[in-house]
Amino acid sequence: MQSKGDPVTEPYDELFLFIDGEWIEGTGRDTSAVFNPATGDVIGHVPHARQADLDRALEAADRGFALWRRTPAYDRAQVLRRAAALLRERAEPIARQLTLEQGKALHEARYELASSADYFEWFAEEGRRVYGRTVPSRRPEVHQRVHKEPIGPVAAFAPWNFPAITPSRKIAAALAAGCSVVIKPGEECPATALAIARALDDAGLPKGVLNVVFGVPELISRHLIESPVIRKVSFTGSVPVGRLLAAQAGQALKPITLELGGHAPVLVFADADIDAAARLLAANKFRGTGQICLSPTRILVQRTVYEPFLSRFIAETQALKLGDGLDPQTQVGPVSNARRIEAIAALVADARACGATVRAGGERIDRPGLFWQPTILTDVPAHAKVMHEEPFGPLAVVRPFDTIDEALAEANRLPYGLAAYAFTESARTALRVGDELEAGMIGINHAQMIVCELPFGGIKDSGHGSEGGAEGIQSYLHTKFISQV
Ligand code: NAD
Repeated sequence: MQSKGDPVTEPYDELFLFIDGEWIEGTGRDTSAVFNPATGDVIGHVPHARQADLDRALEAADRGFALWRRTPAYDRAQVLRRAAALLRERAEPIARQLTLEQGKALHEARYELASSADYFEWFAEEGRRVYGRTVPSRRPEVHQRVHKEPIGPVAAFAPWNFPAITPSRKIAAALAAGCSVVIKPGEECPATALAIARALDDAGLPKGVLNVVFGVPELISRHLIESPVIRKVSFTGSVPVGRLLAAQAGQALKPITLELGGHAPVLVFADADIDAAARLLAANKFRGTGQICLSPTRILVQRTVYEPFLSRFIAETQALKLGDGLDPQTQVGPVSNARRIEAIAALVADARACGATVRAGGERIDRPGLFWQPTILTDVPAHAKVMHEEPFGPLAVVRPFDTIDEALAEANRLPYGLAAYAFTESARTALRVGDELEAGMIGINHAQMIVCELPFGGIKDSGHGSEGGAEGIQSYLHTKFISQV
């Protein structure tokens, strides 16, 4: 039995590039180290694609597209469903790899794997519902058809915070539509993305239809986006990188779907179930150690219930169990990489210097690995950086408000528009915040947003396009009109 504080040891998968159906080792290539954020140990080395590897992936995607677009949607769906079944069968070992390289608690990694399988099943069926239409013509001898076609080979870029769901959403929708894919997942968490590619390979996906590369992100994205083979770009990550890739895609006249950062406001009204709101917000704020673009960050509480909410929220937060994600007791794992620890430390120091009060946490934990105490700040002035910059870590700000107008103005103040939340028992208030919050996803008395059958995406600087739901497949299709006499 494992005693408290012992490191959890676990074997880590060998890492490859996956190009044209071939699993390519790192020999002779540059590599970068993969760390276990719970211990700081190097657990593997991910191979970097050379330019020749990228060109081979592009050539394979081009060939793969020619084959896959002619494969009936029914047959494509069979492959995607088989891959989903394999992901479910292999969920436990893959989830353990995910936790090892990303840090999140094992129960979250299991949930992520199940959700990724859901995306493959959902898009398998959506691919069979790509309908066109016939439009009545102005002349009797003319027949007018509108139909949807796969847009072409896709360059996709997925981050490290959801190493299973973010690649799955992109790959599943693109493949269901009949596109081929070259994907660059996050170099920090390569084993999970490779396990997804392995499931598709084992499910019978023809070679070249999916290619997985790693390396220096800016070199790979520029090379892929500029290639005439690529017809569509999809990126999940930060606003600055989204802007850069959008500019590159714009220059190449290629459509891009962007899922970027957020700074989610929460409006807790006096008529809400305060205990339930505090419990749900503590669980959701610190889920994934706060490294989730939907993470509730600015918690605005009506003044009459501010103190009772705050004390309950602090108590719920302080009760969370921190530790190595592989420990079954753990609810909050480490921060995933040193960049996030530095960013959180800087935001907390700045808020303190601006006069904020630290009501919970506020410090790095003195143990191996990258652990930061779940942190709650109050009395944070509007000019503090944390009121503008996405923390993307275990850090929440709580502030009082008096009127709904004041709360909505604060909620909509930032250029972000990804997720927003409200807690109220009033139907009138719920309707108003649903209408007036500027966000692509709004949770009212609820925070579960990552569901395959619903659209996932932001507005304003948080990006454009939707990745789930009936909308998710549309960005991988183009429209063709055929007029025939
Ligand atoms: P970052 O801006 O360095 O990178 C964000 C992501 O983009 C990473 O996955 C990275 O590998 C990738 N990337 C960076 N440059 C790229 C390029 N030129 N081409 C293609 N991909 C590129 O930030 P980070 O430290 O890795 O992550 C923290 C920030 O990223 C947070 O502030 C958060 O806003 C954002 N983020 C958002 C999401 C999301 O779900 N929307 C996910 C992960 C990270």
